[in-house]
Order: sequence, then C-alpha cells, then structure tokens
Amino acid sequence: MKDNELRAAVCPLCGKIYSGYPALSRTDNETLICPDCGTRQALESIGITEKEQEQIIETIRRHTQK
Ligand SMILES: [Zn+2]
Repeated sequence: MKDNELRAAVCPLCGKIYSGYPALSRTDNETLICPDCGTRQALESIGITEKEQEQIIETIRRHTQK
C-alpha cells in the first residue's frame, strides 16, 4: 500500500465522500474535512455569504474538473 495514494474519506461536516487532499477544519485545527468545506470555511472567515460561497465553489469545481 502506498502512502501517497489518494484515498476516499467521509467529510464529517457535509457527510460527503471525497478523495484527494483534505482540508483542515478552522474550527478546531485538527479535523480533516473535504476541500469544499475547507473552501467554505475560508470564505466564511472573510465574510462571504453562504449563497456567494456556493457560487464560488461551483466555479472552482468547473475549473478543476477534468
Ligand atoms: Zn465537506
């Protein structure tokens, strides 16, 4: 088993299964969350509304999909 292999994990925040690099939760600095929730928390911390957060995440998804 390789350590650098991408593994699927369940995000404790949204319950979604994700693979790839997890983000560190800003609330406790130790919980690993999915990249989407990581982006959401980062945007929230700079005062972006929930609606705008979803639009930004949607844009990121469009640009990161292969
Ligand atoms: Zn999540």
